[in-house]
Amino acid sequence: MKDNKLNLFLKESPPESLPISSMETIPEPPLNQTYPFNKDLQHLLYGKQLLFDDLPFPLKEIQQHFENGHILYRKGISTENNKIACARCGNKDSSLFASFPCARCGEKNCMYCRKCIMMGRVSACTPLVSWRGADPDEAITEDPLVWSGKLSDGQQLASDRVKQAVIENKELLVWAVCGAGKTEVLFEGINTALASGKRVCIATPRTDVVLELGPRLKTAFPGIQVAVLYGGSEDRHLQAPLTIATTHQLLRFYKAFDAVIVDEVDAFPYTADESLQYAVRQSRKDLSSMIYLTATPNRKWQNECRNGKRDFVTIPARYHRHPLPVPSFKWCGNWEKALKKDKLPAAVTQWIKMRLDNQKQCLLFLPKIDKMEKVLSLLRKLHPKIEAVHAEDPDRKSKVQQMRDKEIPMLLTTTILERGVTFPSVDVAVLGTEDRIFTESALVQIAGRVGRSAQFPNGDITFFHYGKTENMVQARKQILKINEEARKKGLIDY
Ligand SMILES: [Zn+2]
Repeated sequence: MKDNKLNLFLKESPPESLPISSMETIPEPPLNQTYPFNKDLQHLLYGKQLLFDDLPFPLKEIQQHFENGHILYRKGISTENNKIACARCGNKDSSLFASFPCARCGEKNCMYCRKCIMMGRVSACTPLVSWRGADPDEAITEDPLVWSGKLSDGQQLASDRVKQAVIENKELLVWAVCGAGKTEVLFEGINTALASGKRVCIATPRTDVVLELGPRLKTAFPGIQVAVLYGGSEDRHLQAPLTIATTHQLLRFYKAFDAVIVDEVDAFPYTADESLQYAVRQSRKDLSSMIYLTATPNRKWQNECRNGKRDFVTIPARYHRHPLPVPSFKWCGNWEKALKKDKLPAAVTQWIKMRLDNQKQCLLFLPKIDKMEKVLSLLRKLHPKIEAVHAEDPDRKSKVQQMRDKEIPMLLTTTILERGVTFPSVDVAVLGTEDRIFTESALVQIAGRVGRSAQFPNGDITFFHYGKTENMVQARKQILKINEEARKKGLIDY
């Protein structure tokens, strides 16, 4: 065991021990089955990768578990072949590492990762700590799903495929149109997984989605403990068979789940931030299933589906069997120039007036906050109760609620409301659709706000623009194609 001694804290370690930073690999002592391990520690560490600072146990106790093979240490920062990498977030960008004089190892230049520092400092001398002893005992509930709803034909087909993927530990993309009811499609698969003692995680880039899904899944699986994880949530140390988390929170997990479901896989920041994709991969067990959900897969994924390189299932129609509203394009000239003269393009004013006169609620999307504020000041002359929201707006939630309660006739918004929100009956317009911020998927999502409820399945979606873009054309094409597919499959009646 002498060679296996690690220098965790200089003061406590014997002189012959090695500091972690200078070791090629950290040893994995054989598992001592008779060692009376601490169940609380097992509970806390199973499926996780934490730092010593995260563990409310004496270092000595942790070290004894390590020496008896119950705990795994992995180097937090690896420097193989002179290439630096963070094992927690996958960061390999040398500019995102820094060094500091470390009190723990005594090095003047102890390297650490800046990329994931908000989850606690991963440095060269501290390991990521995981459990490698016995699995915790799981109480298995035979048929935990309590849900009496009925799936549409399209949903049922997707639900069967999800269940199959979960059983066979496969990867599957569920491509479901906005408003298809994709959460319900997961229920059977999750039920099957839980009933066989599997651990399931639903991850999404967006905190609002976590907050919305939490109560819904708790209701559907009342006998199951559900951990709801986001920045600042209290369930952090809860060991639950079903976890709902932001993709960010998965940075603390390591080989934890038998089934990982990523909802809104194309949403910001997941697509832009490789460390989140890395975190999702790290959270899966070696043998596990992976389900992706989205209404708007990116171009690459769409092509992979078409070329048979990606397993997928579509739900091309909404639950209420009406087609998706198709956007119309309206050229409105140089609207920014008009705004400078305190004017809105006539076509836009006309579109808005018509809605106000008919008391039909509407959303107007704009590419920039300053333009939005300007438009707001002009529109307030038409109706004093018109409001505007953007990402940093402290009143964002209350304004959205006011819109739901029909207290305001119209809401101006940036792309922040492009997904996730449902108003039962709205018309939607985009002003400045030519802006780069309106990608194909953003535009499909925006159009997807219209006609969601069975009571009001129709509505108008208009893209006002100063020059048609490829994104607009492709978004429209995608919607038409999906409607055509739904018609062919007999999923649309109207
Ligand atoms: Zn990192």
